[in-house]
Amino acid sequence: EHEYIATPSRTKEILQRHGFRFKKRLGQNFLTNPKVLQRIVAAGGTSAADDVIEIGPGIGALTEFLAESAHQVLALEIDPRLLPVLAETMAPYPNVSVVEADVLKADLPGLIAEHFDGQHQLKVIANLPYYITTPILMHLIEAPVTFDDITVMMQKEVADRLTAAPSSKDYGSLTIGVQQRMNVEVAFTVSRTAFVPAPNVDSAIVNLTKRTTPLVEISDQAAFDRLVKGSFAARRKTLWNNLTNLFGKDDATKAKLTSALDAVQVTPSARAETLSIPQFAALAEALKANGL
Ligand code: SAM
Repeated sequence: EHEYIATPSRTKEILQRHGFRFKKRLGQNFLTNPKVLQRIVAAGGTSAADDVIEIGPGIGALTEFLAESAHQVLALEIDPRLLPVLAETMAPYPNVSVVEADVLKADLPGLIAEHFDGQHQLKVIANLPYYITTPILMHLIEAPVTFDDITVMMQKEVADRLTAAPSSKDYGSLTIGVQQRMNVEVAFTVSRTAFVPAPNVDSAIVNLTKRTTPLVEISDQAAFDRLVKGSFAARRKTLWNNLTNLFGKDDATKAKLTSALDAVQVTPSARAETLSIPQFAALAEALKANGL
């Protein structure tokens, strides 16, 4: 029987012994509640059939639980000061590899090929650094690897954007980019008191699972993504305004835009936030058919 890394007393002991000081700019809020960690691992459906990438292991609070449930764990940590700490706390877990890396710059396919056997489900399970939640999510879903499951803790405000419906204030290019590729569900919410130091926002665990059948057929993913991002570039302006900024304001382009919008029965004066994902997909196809 051992005491979990995440208990408040053991976390405190480890941090003190290593003289560790939190860096706010790296989003360092460590979980000190083993019950919450158990629920995160369960929300990810973690089993011996899984190879797991963890982003930002900290001192290994979550990594320990992943090591006990998964086949292999690859943990990417940007802060070099945590490497000696992790070498110590992860010593009992031979199935954990820690790599010093910035997840946003990491070559994920290369790391996966190097550390995993390709015979297991590929998952990401992490308590994200909140200052880069959105870039990390986009990096994961746009990576040239498909994750079977992504279970991540984030600020509740971003979880609300991921689960938003059209015509709500939280609905935008992040909602569409993620929902188009994955099923999204909030597993549970976590109070700020579960962390040291306590962050100044509440948190949610979001579970993203690979869609077995696509929500909509998209023939050109890059063109679709460009259209969605461009449509929301100036949120308060009309779709027409955003589309002419994106494609051009000359008469020939305007005629093509009008024809495409007409074909999918979308009014140019609409706001992007009123369009559903299937409507954006239809518009992307119509624009392509009109040579845009
Ligand atoms: N997993 C630990 C836990 O649950 O207690 C720590 C989570 S803490 C919210 C976020 C962690 O991500 C920190 O350890 C931080 O140093 C690390 N981090 C911050 N930016 C990173 C980046 N760009 N790439 C990899 N790790 C990063």
